[in-house]
Amino acid sequence: MNRTKPSDGPVVTVVGGGLAGSEAAYQIARRGVRVRLFEMRPQVMTPAHVSDRLGELVCSNSLGGDGGLSPAALLKAELRMAGSLVLEAAEAARVPGGQALVVDRERFAEAVTERLLAHPLVEVVREVVAEVPEPPAVIATGPLTAPPLAAALERLLGERALAFFDAASPVVFADSVDMTRAFWDSREGTGDYLNCPLTREEYERFVRELVAAEQHPLHEFEDVTFFEGCLPIEELARRGPRTPLFGPMRPVGLVDPATGRRPYAVVQLRRDNAAGSLLSLVGFQTNLRWGEQKRVFGLIPALAHAEYARYGVMHRNTYLRSPRFLDPDLSVRGRPGLWLAGQMTGVEGYVESAAGGLLAGINAVRWLRGQASLVLPADSMWGALMQYISRADPDHFQPMNTNFGLLPPAGRPGDDKRARRAAARERALAALAAALRQAGEEGDHERG
Ligand SMILES: Cc1cc2nc3c(=O)[nH]c(=O)nc-3n(C[C@H](O)[C@H](O)[C@H](O)COP(=O)(O)OP(=O)(O)OC[C@H]3O[C@@H](n4cnc5c(N)ncnc54)[C@H](O)[C@@H]3O)c2cc1C
Repeated sequence: MNRTKPSDGPVVTVVGGGLAGSEAAYQIARRGVRVRLFEMRPQVMTPAHVSDRLGELVCSNSLGGDGGLSPAALLKAELRMAGSLVLEAAEAARVPGGQALVVDRERFAEAVTERLLAHPLVEVVREVVAEVPEPPAVIATGPLTAPPLAAALERLLGERALAFFDAASPVVFADSVDMTRAFWDSREGTGDYLNCPLTREEYERFVRELVAAEQHPLHEFEDVTFFEGCLPIEELARRGPRTPLFGPMRPVGLVDPATGRRPYAVVQLRRDNAAGSLLSLVGFQTNLRWGEQKRVFGLIPALAHAEYARYGVMHRNTYLRSPRFLDPDLSVRGRPGLWLAGQMTGVEGYVESAAGGLLAGINAVRWLRGQASLVLPADSMWGALMQYISRADPDHFQPMNTNFGLLPPAGRPGDDKRARRAAARERALAALAAALRQAGEEGDHERG
């Protein structure tokens, strides 16, 4: 790897010293390219961060599953293969946490900060960035992006480019839905929705449990007025026990082939990925606790045994409607030399955010060197997530975390879940190793 003196050569601007920006900056520097990393803290704090450290974890000190055949463990194995700083720092700060990668949050952020401050090619600038920087630049300012930059991005990417509040409906695995209690049809006759019917008794019980279920407390700074068009389902039910029947649960235009009649109420599921392995509950954004979502939505007969790829969430979250303008290499279409990464691109979670930073960092250097962009294989977890945020339906785009539903089916017919996951994992690691090798981007680069 070529090393340049700190004073020579082009500089890549990275905005945001969180999980994604720190990872991007490190990947650029370790490839011998200078980086100017802008972080607004401590000059300006976000409502969630409490320190000036780079890579601060804003909430939980768990980076998620790291054992067995979990999807989070697969993503970590892939990022380790590519030499992730975030995972290296997590290893150094690890505390016992069973199958999860749990860290001492201070030691973790210190490890990230020290690594970057000590690197001769990294300059850290403590300033708020208010405009989209000149290329080459990576923007990774997270869910609490400072408002002036959010406004500048909206000017660049167009109206409705940004969503400011994340009110996501749950997503279930299609193969966990009881298809004997559901039917494909739509109110417009296109057959695009999987309808889960409820009788009057089932509906009334469901609504009783829904309004009484336990909710997540919203943070003080998240005390927002709900958009009328995007009310949580429990809020809708609180307005009147029959209100959902005139909203997302309305049965008008639908006939249940099992009874030949219109159901009393329905819950509609819509394909959430091109393969149709993930289905989201339409209009069911919710702030219920996760265990309560499983229990209460389990009262819908077709969802009695549903498994959740992602639970519904509501929190303040600036994210971009990425599929409108992002390519799978994380470059902005029509804006050479600009990449976006992290939670703002519509991934959800610490490690998912770092994954975007790692790819954007690699591609910024490849761009400077005139090399083709690295596009990750769609059957790796990392690649599948990057494809999701760039190729999902932009009109219904909601943040996504790692899960096996993003990957194409794996294993042999008749394999149980464990065998299918093992096959998917093996295929993912092999595909990623081949892609990194071919691009010359393996993780064993000389450390900076
Ligand atoms: C309240 C809250 C709780 C969360 N809890 C969890 C959790 O428990 N587990 C989990 O996995 N994820 C959680 N998340 C999601 C979490 O934010 C991401 O997983 C992760 O931090 C995203 O990484 P990032 O690098 O994209 O953003 P961040 O880590 O937020 O980093 C962005 C950085 O950019 C800086 N910045 C913003 N605007 C500017 C600007 N204009 N100029 C310069 N600097 C700027 C910020 O100060 C920040 O340091 C939570 C988010 C919130 C808001």
